[in-house]
Amino acid sequence: MPTRRSVRRAPGVRGERFAVRDPATGEAFDAAPDQRADELDAIVDRAHDAWRGWRTDPVARATALLAAADAVEAAGAELAPLLTREQGKPLAESNAEVARTAARLRYFARLRPETQVITDGRPVHSDIRWRPLGPVAAIVPWNFPLQLASAKFAPALAAGNTMVLKPSPFTPLATRLLASVVSAALPDGVLTVVTGREPLGARLASHPGIRHVSFTGSVATGRAVATGAAGSLARVTLELGGNDAAILLDDVDVEGIADRLFWAAFRNCGQVCMAVKRVYAPNRLYAQVVDALALRAKTAVVGAGLDPDSQIGPVNNAGQLARVERYTAQALAAGARAAAGGHRLDRAGYFFAPTILADVPPDIPVVTEEQFGPVLPVLPYDSVDDAVDAANGTGFGLGGSVWGTDPDRAEAVADRLECGTAWVNHHAELSLAQPFAGVKESGVGVAGGLWGLYGNLRPFVVHRAREARS
Ligand code: NAD
Repeated sequence: MPTRRSVRRAPGVRGERFAVRDPATGEAFDAAPDQRADELDAIVDRAHDAWRGWRTDPVARATALLAAADAVEAAGAELAPLLTREQGKPLAESNAEVARTAARLRYFARLRPETQVITDGRPVHSDIRWRPLGPVAAIVPWNFPLQLASAKFAPALAAGNTMVLKPSPFTPLATRLLASVVSAALPDGVLTVVTGREPLGARLASHPGIRHVSFTGSVATGRAVATGAAGSLARVTLELGGNDAAILLDDVDVEGIADRLFWAAFRNCGQVCMAVKRVYAPNRLYAQVVDALALRAKTAVVGAGLDPDSQIGPVNNAGQLARVERYTAQALAAGARAAAGGHRLDRAGYFFAPTILADVPPDIPVVTEEQFGPVLPVLPYDSVDDAVDAANGTGFGLGGSVWGTDPDRAEAVADRLECGTAWVNHHAELSLAQPFAGVKESGVGVAGGLWGLYGNLRPFVVHRAREARS
């Protein structure tokens, strides 16, 4: 198993490095290569050279990806603590992320596109054979560094592409280690990780040698990526922000669902694209819902992710902490009440008390925008129609959920949500086999399952004339 010291440097990596901080202390604990945008030409050329061989043999690809999955699992004891150190999440969540990374590699290793016959008659037989695109790029954020990286490279490599992957500068280390582990099972140049500060990502997105840019991150950066990729007319897949609503119906068993609802909002310190980011409760149950969530927020154990007792870690970085503080302060100034939390914790690191906001005006940023942190606004509603309108009333459309004792009734309401995935009585559970797509500003294109594989392929159609019999 490679150790951190044996992480191979990508070609062109020079001496410059940037600091990586532990969000549990706020202190720099390591550094990563600060690669420059002009180093990308050689790296993309190498990915192109590697593509010539990698594209040819799907059986060899599957074998290599299955070996990579085993290697990821074997490296879990090293990957997970490093992930926790730079990202902040509890170690159990990092272990789950490593396991999911290996599972995704196995899933896509076994998935094959099918040749499809279009016309099988005379005078022409035509079919579609799916072809890889070439060297592709992925740019990912800091909330699930390994899981999101593998959500990019597993389908891309399985499809026969090669990849240049850029993690967030807040979480470069575990991704570099992951790539080193995975690459040991692959030919040189098939997967290359580049790390560095902007304009590295902008240059990668607009690089003329890249045929597909798969981006996960904020709406604002997604726009910049799409603009950059327009120059080369590369295919673009964007998985962007969310502001998922959870609607509680009037027959809901509040105590019965409170744990599930709370953790759907606060897992990974609320830094989940499809976390519950707003709760709508009927007037009659409003106080009970606020109290049930506030109790859990007050009793959840907040601490460093490496402490086995911690259930909620720190916010990942100082900028994100400032955003969470700003949204909370705006809400309190607008008349909201902190039923739990509402402030930073008085200790080193980027800790914010799990916060439940009640009596929140519906038109302030903590409701209409994406807080992406441990702060949850709870809003009352008069009618289910009002709740559905409010849930659908932002620019986002990633996910949403409806909670109630009668699952058919809840599902009928969930069916009215304008989003890519809706859940009944749970939230943010995803299968590797499902399509994953946001609507409105939450995304462009489809990832996940077979859709993710085909998103990394192009149709190549062959027509064959058949002699007409006289
Ligand atoms: P971000 O948009 O700031 O950064 C994402 C990535 O883009 C990072 O690697 C960053 O270095 C890079 N980047 C920054 N500027 C760039 C530019 N001009 N060109 C190219 N790349 C650039 O997002 P973030 O703060 O790291 O992550 C949080 C956001 O990600 C939230 O909005 C969250 O909802 C979203 N997210 C979405 C999904 C999804 O699947 N829909 C999943 C996870 C996170």
